[in-house]
Amino acid sequence: MNWNRVLKIIAGLSAMLWAASVPVAAQGVPQPAPSRTARQSSVVDPTVAVRTEAAAWLADLIKINTSNPPGNEQPAATFISRLLQKEGIKAEVVDVAPGRSAVVARLRSSVVPEPSKALLLVAHLDTVPVDKSRWTVDPFGAVIKDGYMYGRGAIDDKGMLAANLAVFINLKRTNAHLNRDVIFLATADEEGSGDASIRTLIAKYWDKFAAGFAINEGGNVFVKKGKVQYIGVQASEKVAANIAVIARGTSGHASQPTKDNAVVHLAAAVAKIGTYTAPVHFTAIVRRYFEGIAPLEDDEISKWIRSMDTTDRGEHAQRVVSDASPLWNSMMRDTVAPTVLSAGVANNVIPAEARGNLNVRLLPGDPIGTVVNDLNKLVNDPAVKLEVQPNAGLAAPPSSLDSDFYNVICRVASREFGGAPALPFQSTWLTDSAQLRLHSVQAYGLVPFPLNDEDLRRMHGDDERIPLVAFDKGVDVLMKIVTEFAVTRY
Ligand SMILES: [Zn+2]
Repeated sequence: MNWNRVLKIIAGLSAMLWAASVPVAAQGVPQPAPSRTARQSSVVDPTVAVRTEAAAWLADLIKINTSNPPGNEQPAATFISRLLQKEGIKAEVVDVAPGRSAVVARLRSSVVPEPSKALLLVAHLDTVPVDKSRWTVDPFGAVIKDGYMYGRGAIDDKGMLAANLAVFINLKRTNAHLNRDVIFLATADEEGSGDASIRTLIAKYWDKFAAGFAINEGGNVFVKKGKVQYIGVQASEKVAANIAVIARGTSGHASQPTKDNAVVHLAAAVAKIGTYTAPVHFTAIVRRYFEGIAPLEDDEISKWIRSMDTTDRGEHAQRVVSDASPLWNSMMRDTVAPTVLSAGVANNVIPAEARGNLNVRLLPGDPIGTVVNDLNKLVNDPAVKLEVQPNAGLAAPPSSLDSDFYNVICRVASREFGGAPALPFQSTWLTDSAQLRLHSVQAYGLVPFPLNDEDLRRMHGDDERIPLVAFDKGVDVLMKIVTEFAVTRY
């Protein structure tokens, strides 16, 4: 690490944090204390110094383009391993596929490892791609503007990656006495869930990072009207699958239209599928989530949330709540979203085949066969076939809501975010945690940065950004969670 450079960045960030106080205050996240200029803090408190350095690491990571496809995570893995080596931590870059690597490093609590007690800090190196033309800044520039750092991965998941690094390095620098091994893991191909993903990593290298507990992305600190409304701690996730819709007809000259045109049959089938609504099914976690969120919403919606399980008004209530939020809708039922259409070879040729893709998100345990049957009945067209695609996800058992680690996460996060409740959360999106849960890891998802809807929407979208004060706060909270769970004393 070039310290002149670090100090320059630190000075820049500090100035920027102060300049940004207005928009950041509007988000309801804490302001830096007046004494916390980085130059002072690096002498006074190593924890504060590492937080400020973490923002510089986040910028460095954003500048390494790991858009997936193709991923190309190796340079980011090398960057992290060098950073850890400089701190005196042995880090291993593990090659998962050509050009695609993960990083593993361990801080030991004892000579003989106890994998069932170990804590894994997980984040992924890859990001989704960008449509550069729709960004107002360079997506790989780590541009700082109005109190935000912009860049692909700023939240998902390089923000968490930098936070994990900060926590891990701080444990080492402060010579913390651990009651369990703490393992740093940076994975590849999370966004693609392909051959270079955690599935392969576990199959090939499980012994290098076997653990009983993990913290990963998956849940969020939700900010509403300038305040943290609740902390969603992910303990389960939905399962993804794809179904191909294939319409077949007779190809021919476009000057003489026919009734069995495959494009027409596909379009009609997709239109019907668009109206599909699967029955509601509350998993234990979703039930607890709605119980927790009902008192936080305004009276009207709160009333409907509480009525969802009643016999007389249940169905109507479920409809109102589903319509109020696509997230809530997807938390309580299987969903189907048409995502890709393809047909035709030329403007004047009727094609023999037209295909679409349906992206299905199942509640854990729900069989895809039920959805296929329902859709077949709905489409009701012998010219159209539905085919479940290979590589569907596997349902994992939920993580326990009674474990010590879950309790620590909820207690610390709630305390640090002004008493906002921590609720169990079932994400509608996928994370690496499902694979960990399938290997008996009690994995929990919490991106520790307080974020409002506007910022959360930009993940996977354009102009992804993280408020720098939220980043700083998140690193601090994650540090406290890990300290309470894994550190006996400094
Ligand atoms: Zn992610």
